Amino acid sequence: MTVVATEVLVVGSGAGGAVTAATLARAGRTVTVVEEGPYLDPDAFEPFSLAEMVAKYRHGGSSAALGRPAIAYAEGRCVGGSTEINSGLYHRLPLDLAQQWRDTYRIDEFTPDALERYADRVEEELAVTRLPGAPPPSSAVLERGAVKLGWRAVEFARVFRYEHGGRAVKQTMARTFLPRAVEAGARILPDCRVVRLLRQGDRVTGAHCERTRPDGTTEVLTITADHVFVCAGAIQTPALLQRSGIRRNVGRGLKMHATVKIAARFPHPVDHGDVPMHRVTEFAPSLTIGGSASRRGHVAMALADSAADYRDALEHWEHVAVYYAAIRSEGSGRVVALPGLRAPLVLYNLTESDMSRLARALVHLGEVLLAAGATELYPSVSGGGVARETRDLARWWDALDRRTANLMTVHMTSTVRIGEDRARTGADSFGRVWGHRNLYVNDASLLPDAPGVNPQGTIMALATRNAEHFLAIA
Ligand SMILES: Cc1cc2nc3c(=O)[nH]c(=O)nc-3n(C[C@H](O)[C@H](O)[C@H](O)COP(=O)(O)OP(=O)(O)OC[C@H]3O[C@@H](n4cnc5c(N)ncnc54)[C@H](O)[C@@H]3O)c2cc1C
Repeated sequence: MTVVATEVLVVGSGAGGAVTAATLARAGRTVTVVEEGPYLDPDAFEPFSLAEMVAKYRHGGSSAALGRPAIAYAEGRCVGGSTEINSGLYHRLPLDLAQQWRDTYRIDEFTPDALERYADRVEEELAVTRLPGAPPPSSAVLERGAVKLGWRAVEFARVFRYEHGGRAVKQTMARTFLPRAVEAGARILPDCRVVRLLRQGDRVTGAHCERTRPDGTTEVLTITADHVFVCAGAIQTPALLQRSGIRRNVGRGLKMHATVKIAARFPHPVDHGDVPMHRVTEFAPSLTIGGSASRRGHVAMALADSAADYRDALEHWEHVAVYYAAIRSEGSGRVVALPGLRAPLVLYNLTESDMSRLARALVHLGEVLLAAGATELYPSVSGGGVARETRDLARWWDALDRRTANLMTVHMTSTVRIGEDRARTGADSFGRVWGHRNLYVNDASLLPDAPGVNPQGTIMALATRNAEHFLAIA
């Protein structure tokens, strides 16, 4: 058995882990990052391709939260985590929401000023910008539809750097914070899964890991550490804590942006290389409308979700793009680590008002797409029927129910909430797990609720803040 010693162990290299590692390494701490997934050259795969999905997604992209209805979800599993596969859309945490969270969970130093300061820094590091030039047609669709209906729409900023010659390079963790952490002395161990944390009283002494060698065989690795930051994402972080015997307010209160989709057919071909950057924000933050990845496979899956006869639409898939409407749900879920199983059980309960909000979301999405000139809409509702004009949309109010809705999400949060209200949180205001002196969580799990906007900006700002607080006290 190999034993490695480090001062700070960071578990997971995604949005939370990469920022934590870079912040601590730059301050002179000895940092080791362990990542379950492989290191893959960020340029090696075509974005949103099937090959990328197989290589970088956990379970090849097919995971589901059980419930009525079940909700399909996706997580990254590679160096850089979900930032390697995400759409790069960036948004700050809405300040009214921040204030609500601060009051409800009693979070210290969670003022608008502090949050904006950390957001400024993340944006500078990641080159957060808007697209130079005109948006692609698939994005302009949303703006055009919204203008026709008198609704608000905005072009979102993204974490992209634009090179001479026009190549847009997504600023993932493998391209930014991780190489910067390594430059400052951090070590990254890919293909290394933390099986459980090692504990002694109120301290964590390290982790028991399983490392996969290049030939596919595995070895056991023990890492001893003075401090441990768990940044494995909102599903895997609570599962690891539970496997390690830490259960108090861990894994409950899972939140997701539940999402419905429409495959929209247009009279003309649409672009499929990028994800639309426009969002319809008329009903935000409780309901947001945007565009999804629309490669041929995505179009085929979205058409199939309607259970309609989609053969002709698939044959003309270049005319079809996929759009979504996501809600902040009132319901919540749970992550439960099961003895002997690698993957945790994930459960999610949508309330009746969530279901009616989803129906409303689908109808509004249909309205905006028809207003923008779409000629056929295939909803992600089995038997919902294809809509060709506005009056067809009324059918969807009744058609979407717990048996027929095909839902998905890529935004999971809130399984180890922060705050000083110990009855409702799993960690203190800066992510230190209650009952432990040297164990921290620093990822999407900490957000007290779904943010209603793309979460990576909030996760990175919070991770910077918490890592700096750690530097001040430890
Ligand atoms: C397809 C997709 C599109 C998205 N689009 C956007 C977008 O446009 N904008 C936006 O803001 N957000 C987007 N998101 C969400 C965003 O990427 C995530 O919210 C964010 O990356 C979460 O950060 P995290 O640090 O909590 O977890 P992650 O970034 O998921 O990183 C967790 C890492 O921990 C590793 N890990 C897990 N368990 C272990 C273990 N036991 N041992 C070692 N390592 C472990 C995982 O392999 C993973 O690499 C998207 C997500 C997906 C999946």
